[in-house]
Amino acid sequence: MPVKRADKTPMPVRLPEERAHDFGEVNEGYALERAMFEAERCLRCQDPVCVEGCPVRIPISDFIHEVAAGDLVAAARILRTANPLPAICGRVCPQETQCEERCVMGGRFRPVAIGHLERFVADQERARGISTTAERTHSEKVAVIGAGPAGLVCAGELARMGYGVTVYEGLHAPGGVLRYGIPEFRLPKAILDHEIAVLQAMGVEIVCDVIVGRTLPLDRLFEMGYAAVFVGTGAGLPQFLGIPGEDLNGVMSANEFLTRVNLMKGYTFPEADTPVKIGKRVAVVGAGNTAMDAVRTALRLGAEEATIVYRRSDKEMTARVEEHEHAIQEGVVFDWLTSPIEVVGDETGWVTGLRCQKMRLGEPDASGRARPVPIPGSEHVIPVDTVIVAIGTSPNPLLVRTTKGLQTDRHGCLVANEATGLTSKPLVFAGGDAVTGTATVILAAGAGKRAAHAIAEALSPAA
Ligand SMILES: Cc1cc2nc3c(=O)[nH]c(=O)nc-3n(C[C@H](O)[C@H](O)[C@H](O)COP(=O)(O)OP(=O)(O)OC[C@H]3O[C@@H](n4cnc5c(N)ncnc54)[C@H](O)[C@@H]3O)c2cc1C
Repeated sequence: MPVKRADKTPMPVRLPEERAHDFGEVNEGYALERAMFEAERCLRCQDPVCVEGCPVRIPISDFIHEVAAGDLVAAARILRTANPLPAICGRVCPQETQCEERCVMGGRFRPVAIGHLERFVADQERARGISTTAERTHSEKVAVIGAGPAGLVCAGELARMGYGVTVYEGLHAPGGVLRYGIPEFRLPKAILDHEIAVLQAMGVEIVCDVIVGRTLPLDRLFEMGYAAVFVGTGAGLPQFLGIPGEDLNGVMSANEFLTRVNLMKGYTFPEADTPVKIGKRVAVVGAGNTAMDAVRTALRLGAEEATIVYRRSDKEMTARVEEHEHAIQEGVVFDWLTSPIEVVGDETGWVTGLRCQKMRLGEPDASGRARPVPIPGSEHVIPVDTVIVAIGTSPNPLLVRTTKGLQTDRHGCLVANEATGLTSKPLVFAGGDAVTGTATVILAAGAGKRAAHAIAEALSPAA
């Protein structure tokens, strides 16, 4: 193995004491020198196993090689043919459990910073105005339901292959969780808007404010002339703890909280007419990406103390490593091995505390993670005035209830073929969180991409 630097080139980051009070982006991105320096660490393996860790199969060493050579136009072209959302994935993908986990450099040293390089190339592409176009070569058109990463990637891939595509989105703006869930300080809306504009320039039509299954029945799409349908409706229905006091004022789901802030700009109230009330002491229950986003948003909205309450330990949390590290730096308190059993309130119906009990870890449960077991006599009350519940979501049942022939599993997720996305209904495909339950952006993107190819195969079978 040639001699290579052991450590990743660090990502420049804004100071915690400055960034924890505004919504500006935390990571600043590589400059050209840093990117080329990091790209030099790639071994250009003959059998690049990193690609196997990428659900959209980016030719990783090829684009990194172009960065090392300083040809950013070539790097951008390689990246975008495999992934229509590179600036987003470069920012929010959990690379440490995907491509970077497989990187051969990681065996002895630290893996190549593939995510940071992906972000760099996509940002350069945007800054330099490198354009991507697609030509319509097929007469058939496809309807996509939901403008989250699954739907957008499916649409982009179909447009790239020459099909007409219309995306129907229930909210007033496209992006799914990328817009209403992930905050500005991790994923600026301007980046999302640019990635969507690139897809539109490729011919993808996006129609907002249409809830398929309510304002427009799914079967009507076929009558309108669409030859196939892709369902990428996500898993936006929040789960609750089911404990006493959860209906008190001051308790909300992370989805509601983040939507008010991100999509409805609640933090600018009364300029925006959706207020978001945040207390001085905030508890966020859960330890995934959603919980981390909620707790860091609470800090930025002025909470004096923002605490993660989680019934397992930091080893079992599902948040990205970087989000956890950034949250620690910004002053978030972590109450591990602590499980809420009641939300306590005052006579006016407002939250005053969260009654919890301490846990210890037992044998693994069905998820493979250590099962939390209550410690008798460990009950205590954490004084808080806001409780945000971030313990998971499930698919909204609306579309399934109003559409004949769509089969779901016991969790309410659509049943779809893993390789093609085909559901139980002919010419209706599905992917992303609507099929898997809450997962990741890149898994949703991968499912959208696979389904796009299966749709193309169904519409124009190879001879
Ligand atoms: C706060 C938060 C932070 C996250 N952070 C990360 C992260 O850092 N990294 C990561 O990889 N993953 C993260 N995730 C998970 C990731 O965002 C999701 O796995 C991903 O967005 C799923 O994509 P999707 O396209 O399947 O669904 P979604 O993003 O949920 O998009 C579905 C879209 O469909 C629309 N829709 C729903 N029903 C209808 C209908 N009937 N008609 C029309 N439109 C409809 C919705 O309005 C929505 O726009 C996070 C999730 C949350 C909630």
